[in-house]
Amino acid sequence: MVRGGREKFMAEGYCVKCKAKKEITDGVEEIMKNGRKAIKGKCPTCGTVMFKILGGKAVTPPTPPTPPPAAS
Ligand SMILES: [Zn+2]
Repeated sequence: MVRGGREKFMAEGYCVKCKAKKEITDGVEEIMKNGRKAIKGKCPTCGTVMFKILGGKAVTPPTPPTPPPAAS
């Protein structure tokens, strides 16, 4: 599915207004504060802003929650 050109991101997102999955239009990649990537764009049908968080790896790996000591 490589078409060349990396300026636009054709990603699927869920439109809350259409209540359906849509291909995000005018998607641009954004880096969130926590270092994760996300795609911000618009719904092709209604123009609602869609935001898709990518499962990209953050700079710092998430620390697994430490299980509480079994005290009983
Ligand atoms: Zn929509």
